[in-house]
Amino acid sequence: MAGIWVYAEHRDGTIRKVTFEILGEAKKLAEQKGEELCAVLVGADVEGMASKLGAYGAERVYCVEAESLSGYTTGGFTKALSDLVQQEKPSILLLGATANGKDLSARVAGRLKVGLATDCTGIAVDDAGTLQARRPMFAGKVYAEVSFSDVTPQMASIRPNVLLALEPDETRKPEVIKITPDVKPEDIRIAVKDIMKTGGEKPDLTEAEIIVSGGRGMKGPENYHILEELADVLSGVVGASRAAVDAGWRPQSDQVGQSGKVVTPNLYIAAGISGSIQHLAGMGTSKVIVAINKDPEAPIFKKADYGVVDDLFKVVPPLTEQVKKLKAE
Ligand SMILES: Cc1cc2nc3c(=O)[nH]c(=O)nc-3n(C[C@H](O)[C@H](O)[C@H](O)COP(=O)(O)OP(=O)(O)OC[C@H]3O[C@@H](n4cnc5c(N)ncnc54)[C@H](O)[C@@H]3O)c2cc1C
Repeated sequence: MAGIWVYAEHRDGTIRKVTFEILGEAKKLAEQKGEELCAVLVGADVEGMASKLGAYGAERVYCVEAESLSGYTTGGFTKALSDLVQQEKPSILLLGATANGKDLSARVAGRLKVGLATDCTGIAVDDAGTLQARRPMFAGKVYAEVSFSDVTPQMASIRPNVLLALEPDETRKPEVIKITPDVKPEDIRIAVKDIMKTGGEKPDLTEAEIIVSGGRGMKGPENYHILEELADVLSGVVGASRAAVDAGWRPQSDQVGQSGKVVTPNLYIAAGISGSIQHLAGMGTSKVIVAINKDPEAPIFKKADYGVVDDLFKVVPPLTEQVKKLKAE
């Protein structure tokens, strides 16, 4: 049975935002193709999340449940998802380009022997109903429009924060189908012993709407509190360049860029960051970029929407005060 499927990623009983964003865009594609929009939940106890997927546009939700799927493992989730895809034959399968989504999408595509357009920033279908995907290449220097040959399913992973979720409508009730997967112990070849969380209650960089990032211009770890204060008043999170991470000033989980995280916030403030091609690869699709750098020739200014040529230590603290004042008003 054809249909457009969205893999619903969840963590600690909460569906990740990127899933709703993909559902929002996939709904248009499903209407255009005259197909059903379905979501797939995989885990040990996931049925409780199905109604939320309905509110965000899914007409049908597959709940693939087994005790052995209580935590994410590549082997278990690949087997559960690819078996169901082979059985139901959706025309399109979309996943978030998150850490888990990148891992799972590549494995599922490999298992199904189909192509995969990765880290896409736009999707559409042509008149023949074939998926068209837009994806950045060469560290974001160019965009490629890619299409698919005659394969099923056509698979793509979608960058978080680039598509728009629908307004949730709790009256939309999805059809829920429970599936018991055939996942055997030998399908799960790794054991997750512990998960160490960083960042506390703050959103993950990849899902943050506002990021205040600091680079080598911060001069040392003791100065990052000025970025943390600005991020706090803006309800954002702090990121870093690789130079800051390599110097041991910030944890690796804060790194934005080609070998760090790819982010697409509404606002990205780069303080003391030169704007190397590898850094731009991670934040170049941010909606608004503000650069604070004392060097007017810094490449970041070519990408920035707003630029302040000055010493960040003179600019950031008064900026924080100003935001505080505006919020108090
Ligand atoms: C394979 C590979 C992968 C890489 N991956 C990444 C990646 O994922 N992310 C990443 O960021 N980099 C990555 N890099 C490294 C990248 O090439 C740069 O070296 C790095 O981004 C530089 O970090 P920076 O901008 O903080 O430092 P710099 O390039 O040293 O820039 C510091 C900036 O701070 C400014 N400045 C200094 N003092 C002040 C002040 N008081 N006020 C205002 N401005 C000030 C300077 O004018 C300068 O522009 C990678 C490199 C390679 C080869």
